[in-house]
Amino acid sequence: MPLESTWRNCAALANGKSKRALCGSRPCWLRADDRRIWGIPLPFSPQTAAACCFQRLIYHFPMKDPSIMHIDMNAFFASVEQRCNPALRGLPIAVIGSAGRTVVTTASYEARAFGVKTGMNKREARAACPGLIFVIGDNRKYIDASTRINAILKGFSPKVEAFSIDEAFVDLSGTAGLFGPGAVVAASIKERIREELGLTCSIGIAPNKLLAKLASDMQKPDGLVIIRQEDVAALLENLPASELCGIGPMLTRHLAGLGINTCGQLGRYPAGALRERFGMIGERLSLMGKGIDDSPVAFAHALDDAAKSVGHSTTLPADVSDKADIKRHLLKLSEMVGARSRRHGLAGAKVVLTVRYSDFYTFTRRKALPRPTNDTREIYGAACAIIDGLRLKAPVRLLGVSITDMAAGMAQLALFEGDMKRGRLMAALDSINMTFGSGRITWATLLEDEAADGFHKGVIAPSWRPSGVRMVDCK
Ligand SMILES: [Mg+2]
Repeated sequence: MPLESTWRNCAALANGKSKRALCGSRPCWLRADDRRIWGIPLPFSPQTAAACCFQRLIYHFPMKDPSIMHIDMNAFFASVEQRCNPALRGLPIAVIGSAGRTVVTTASYEARAFGVKTGMNKREARAACPGLIFVIGDNRKYIDASTRINAILKGFSPKVEAFSIDEAFVDLSGTAGLFGPGAVVAASIKERIREELGLTCSIGIAPNKLLAKLASDMQKPDGLVIIRQEDVAALLENLPASELCGIGPMLTRHLAGLGINTCGQLGRYPAGALRERFGMIGERLSLMGKGIDDSPVAFAHALDDAAKSVGHSTTLPADVSDKADIKRHLLKLSEMVGARSRRHGLAGAKVVLTVRYSDFYTFTRRKALPRPTNDTREIYGAACAIIDGLRLKAPVRLLGVSITDMAAGMAQLALFEGDMKRGRLMAALDSINMTFGSGRITWATLLEDEAADGFHKGVIAPSWRPSGVRMVDCK
């Protein structure tokens, strides 16, 4: 294998006895006594690497056999609750939100044995399992556990993507020299999560993210499944296409209409015809059927660069038809979107409003803005303009606000004195809320909500990230 040495934009980090070097997008792991990597002699000693810390000098070589790991916590919210309250261990429990009209967010494995599922309402869940114990979710516990799990994962690779609050991808390329093969890393991760948090997880290891996610789903709870490149074709041949992440019930039905039920059939279907039928995602579907996925593990800063949109949505405590009521929820969502975008230095040139009716019919409407913004009032203004222009056909169940067409790192130009003042006000508001907790200072219109329901109350969806910007359209 030819060694490709580069001497550019690199940083070397001393990591105890080992040196962890990050070069471009590829990590190399070195031990202090390493003279060779995979039998290949190094053109410098690790001491040189240490000495050159932050001096743009380290080694870069092509990675063989990239290994992507997907970690999925088992019944995360329920397991955390059982961990925190020993009286709940071994019992069927269901974690629910604090709002009156809530659904099961996570059921413990004991409850799942009775058929209790995520998304059931309380009545359905109780009918399935009369002895079911409902526990109101506590986001702080889940965020804390998720943060600690991510810290453990980052000890094994610098490339960790928090895919949701209870799932993460880890790029293990180049870590074998330090921690051994993927299976060994998986065992160490499982042991540390069990020891430090008392939780179990399922781990999948595969050549790419698509297959790693599939692998972690194949054995639950506490599973470990490794998919090797040579096994991919046989595995996918008869696997239902709906098992692949990103192929939901709707797409499954459309594919079935074309006579495509398995991944094998999907992979063999002419890519051109899929493109014609499904547009842009057609190409991707074809690759998915073949088990091909080249999306990188989007670790922290890469993720911020690649953020396509920033959004929040909420299921309303009760269906709402009154536009004034709807606007109060829109202000709350706009403030959440604005604050998160400002924290990441992002701004969007388009506001997208998502509306779901009580019959679950869902649609989005967009409005372009004269310039990219992260100003709560402008986002709210656009969302209101959209809602004012709509003739609502049914009561609204869910609302979502997001900004898209992002301009990263954009400090909005303050054209007028008023803009500058508002920018300063927003910065002060954000800094107080970040120090003392979300919603400590808020908009007067929202105050009557505060008494009934806190600003960020209600159990967060598992798709929510503990921190960072979510790539909403990375389906
Ligand atoms: Mg999970």
